Amino acid sequence: MSERAAPYYCPYCGDEDLEPHEGDGGRGSGHAWACASCARVFRVGFVGLRAGAIADARRGTSSGEENA
Ligand SMILES: [Zn+2]
Repeated sequence: MSERAAPYYCPYCGDEDLEPHEGDGGRGSGHAWACASCARVFRVGFVGLRAGAIADARRGTSSGEENA
């Protein structure tokens, strides 16, 4: 399993030519990626789970007969 979340598109120019940017990627703040098209280096980090989505999932799987 890889701990690195790979972005598919550059968030700045939309290009797909991304590669891991080694050297100044600090741990704990997301991994750095470099865009070969616009030369920007950015980080991808996990923020958390969306609270609303979790509540909806629980409501949907608990019982389907509540509103029948
Ligand atoms: Zn780019």
